[in-house]
Amino acid sequence: MSSIELKNLVKKYGDGFPAVNDISLDIADGEFMILVGPSGCGKSTLLRMVVGLEDITSGELDINGKRVNDLAPRDRNLAMVFQNYALYPHLTVFENIAFPLRLAKGKHSDNEIKQKVNDAADMLELREHLERKPANLSGGQRQRVAMGRAIVREADAFLFDEPLSNLDAKLRGQMRTEIARMQRRLGVTTLYVTHDQTEAMTLGDRVAVLKKGVLQQCASPRELYEQP
Ligand code: ADP
Ligand code: ADP
Repeated sequence: MSSIELKNLVKKYGDGFPAVNDISLDIADGEFMILVGPSGCGKSTLLRMVVGLEDITSGELDINGKRVNDLAPRDRNLAMVFQNYALYPHLTVFENIAFPLRLAKGKHSDNEIKQKVNDAADMLELREHLERKPANLSGGQRQRVAMGRAIVREADAFLFDEPLSNLDAKLRGQMRTEIARMQRRLGVTTLYVTHDQTEAMTLGDRVAVLKKGVLQQCASPRELYEQP
């Protein structure tokens, strides 16, 4: 079970207008939550506060019912899922997925690492490709490797920050399908930031709409469509 609760979160940079202004949002276990809004509306700031890369000015952030405002990023057990540029080109798929486990030096035996990577690869249909290098994979497969890395860390939630914005339209469509499919299969609580309406309306269980740091509404894509 992993839930994320934002309670009246505020972020002020200096003494300007708050970048994030009193946002409350519950992300349920297994839910795919989208955060959408135009550039500058506070999406990245909010995501960085959740991950722990940005201090919270006021309000409370809970993960699994526990206040984490003052926890370092490594103690929050959340995983940012980066795009393919974050894969190591000289490492195989296996070693790319194993990377976080190897970083945690001494914590995992070779057998344990093999087991975890193989389990993740099975789930992601990457078993056939473990010895390949990222350059020899499709865009969708690379995305799955990036998710594999998050999976082996056994993170409570996945966080995406505009993962598709640098891709061409065709690949973007493919990856959207891929991400939706994997999220459903894994059932991992997910917070996904985008400025793209289509992404927001096709991917999420619910869509939180931000404008100038304020949460305008939070509803399912269907409810948003049916609004006058
Ligand atoms: P988005 O991700 O939706 O584009 P941001 O969270 O990056 O929005 O930015 C929200 C607001 O906060 C913007 O007005 C931006 O200029 C401001 N901002 C973001 N980061 C900083 C910072 N490090 N220092 C000062 N202002 C910032
Ligand atoms: P260390 O060298 O001690 O591992 P890092 O700063 O590289 O320090 O990361 C420590 C931990 O912090 C990571 O294992 C991860 O759990 C967390 N972390 C750091 N940055 C992020 C991020 N962008 N998204 C999610 N977790 C992060």
